[in-house]
Amino acid sequence: MDFHFTEAEQAFRAEVRAFLDEHLPENDPPTETEIERWNHALGEKGWLGFHWPKEHGGYGGTLIEQFILKEECSARRAPPLGSDFMGLTWVGPSIIMHGTKEQQGEFLPELLAGDSVWCTGYSEPDIGSDLAGLQCRAVRDGDEYVVNGSKIWTTLAHKAKYIFLMVRTESDASKSKYKGITCLLTPMDLPGIEVRPIPALTGVHSFNQVFFNDVRVPVESRLGEEGQGWMVVVRALANERSGISEATEKRRHLDDLIELAQTTERKGRPALEDPSVRRSLAGFQAKISAMRLNGMRYLTKQLRGEPAGTETSVNKLLRGQLEHDMWNLSNGLLGSHAQAEGRWQLGSLGYHGTVIGGGTPNIQRNIIGERILGLPKD
Ligand SMILES: Cc1cc2nc3c(=O)[nH]c(=O)nc-3n(C[C@H](O)[C@H](O)[C@H](O)COP(=O)(O)OP(=O)(O)OC[C@H]3O[C@@H](n4cnc5c(N)ncnc54)[C@H](O)[C@@H]3O)c2cc1C
Repeated sequence: MDFHFTEAEQAFRAEVRAFLDEHLPENDPPTETEIERWNHALGEKGWLGFHWPKEHGGYGGTLIEQFILKEECSARRAPPLGSDFMGLTWVGPSIIMHGTKEQQGEFLPELLAGDSVWCTGYSEPDIGSDLAGLQCRAVRDGDEYVVNGSKIWTTLAHKAKYIFLMVRTESDASKSKYKGITCLLTPMDLPGIEVRPIPALTGVHSFNQVFFNDVRVPVESRLGEEGQGWMVVVRALANERSGISEATEKRRHLDDLIELAQTTERKGRPALEDPSVRRSLAGFQAKISAMRLNGMRYLTKQLRGEPAGTETSVNKLLRGQLEHDMWNLSNGLLGSHAQAEGRWQLGSLGYHGTVIGGGTPNIQRNIIGERILGLPKD
């Protein structure tokens, strides 16, 4: 692995820093107006579709540049790169890879302009980890699919213009469950779609259950061929778990934790002077460094033209454990104040989401065991 950046890459880092000097919102967290301004500036710069190919309107940034951009943004506590995380991270790249010219012309410019919000329809009430077992059914009727069923935990469905919807199109149960799945790029305003909010523990409304009752989706909304949806999902999930930014995000969290240890007390002294607190913080730092090096290892593989593949599960798993340990320490530092404190309390109630979303720790362990270590199947 080569740890050095070329002159061009260092120049790009300077460009990112200059952009941040000029456009970084003053407030943390930023106001809505600041977020709008930030997204507009990113759009102008072409960085909303940073890794998308130029011929599809993207910036055509290299993987190393993307790594630098995310690292710098994270170090300066910048807001996310665009409000439509799902659209930009996996829906757009999936449409670039599998979409028709018409679909690319219809959806990609809107995504790059920040004019659409996408949600993702994978999970169902009885189907989460075993995604290939999904049951929401689409039956072909002339030039339309008639969709019936339900999706759950659908983040942002109440705001989304479209849903990246996975449905079952093969009714023959004797055939492989992986071969009967199809992806439909479905407008959320079609008759028969109902969105019901699911309140979260933190009081934030992001989850929903979405019901489909005889929803007629035009055949031209299908992404890829009928029955090819599993291939679309696998590639989209690799984008979701790409892992490069895991370490930089956790570095930010650690900085906050160190500040908390400086401002809270143990036995009348700053908690940061307590050896057990220092040991925990040093342990977190070591794990974050390991995650960063892992991220660079995947990056090196990708630069050699090999897919990032299953290794990204390692950082996803490490991050889950780290989240748990770091929030535990903050609750310990705050003691009984943890119940009343705003930001830390919200974080310690909400972190489970990032651990479960995109695949639970057990599922990552299965992937690592079976596909990286070559152990027998679960
Ligand atoms: C913040 C957040 C956002 C989300 N956003 C979306 C979204 O936008 N769209 C969407 O479709 N879904 C979304 N989800 C749902 C998410 O994908 C599922 O929650 C996740 O895949 C787990 O599925 P489940 O909840 O049904 O749990 P289950 O699959 O029922 O798992 C329950 C427990 O059993 C374990 N388990 C299950 N199978 C195995 C196995 N084979 N081996 C060992 N252990 C196993 C799991 O690890 C877990 O501990 C979101 C979830 C969260 C938390």
